[in-house]
Amino acid sequence: MTTYEDLTPYAYSGEVTGPVVNVGWLGAESRFEVGEPGPGFAEALSALVRFDHVRPTRGWHQCRLCGPGAAYPVCEPDGDGEVVLGSAEIDVPGTGVVYAAPNLVYHYVVRHHYRPPAGFVRAVLARAEASAGAWEETKRSLSAGTPVRGEIRGYHVTGLWLDLPDRPDVDAFIPNDLYGPYGVGENREHVAFHVPVDAVVVGHSDRERRVVLRV
Ligand SMILES: [Zn+2]
Repeated sequence: MTTYEDLTPYAYSGEVTGPVVNVGWLGAESRFEVGEPGPGFAEALSALVRFDHVRPTRGWHQCRLCGPGAAYPVCEPDGDGEVVLGSAEIDVPGTGVVYAAPNLVYHYVVRHHYRPPAGFVRAVLARAEASAGAWEETKRSLSAGTPVRGEIRGYHVTGLWLDLPDRPDVDAFIPNDLYGPYGVGENREHVAFHVPVDAVVVGHSDRERRVVLRV
């Protein structure tokens, strides 16, 4: 992965314009400050890495600080599971600037004790708190039993994703066993995309910040 000094203008993806600066683009030759960034920071960064990732790539970047024999891709424990890193970035809005970091920044913090710039630390804490608040509001406004209308966006071996045109911020999912008469499972190749589907909320997955539906 390309390396950049912290707080230099962001250049990795041509898709991004505006006051965007680099944070955490570390390589084997990088010199960086080490230390404890403060209470709650690692947890906040972990949440952004899981829920706010942008600009996904097809493969995984590896950690150049771990040296030979490093795990690939890089995984970090996360609650009762793990988070895989190296194939996306996070954008964190700060004061007058947006910080763009590879999601490996979480690994650099927890494994290599990288201490990011103070402005980034503040921005991550604020962003994570706002995102957690938004998820609580989503759960309130889409409580169990709420009817929704959406369109099928994609499928996975475990179920279908639905787009909710009124709630583009919401990650809505229909597990296979809740898909009712449409019969996903073996007939998944017959799933019609972009057709209206009426569904109802049955619950919420805090781990994925996902609203669970049934048809
Ligand atoms: Zn490493």
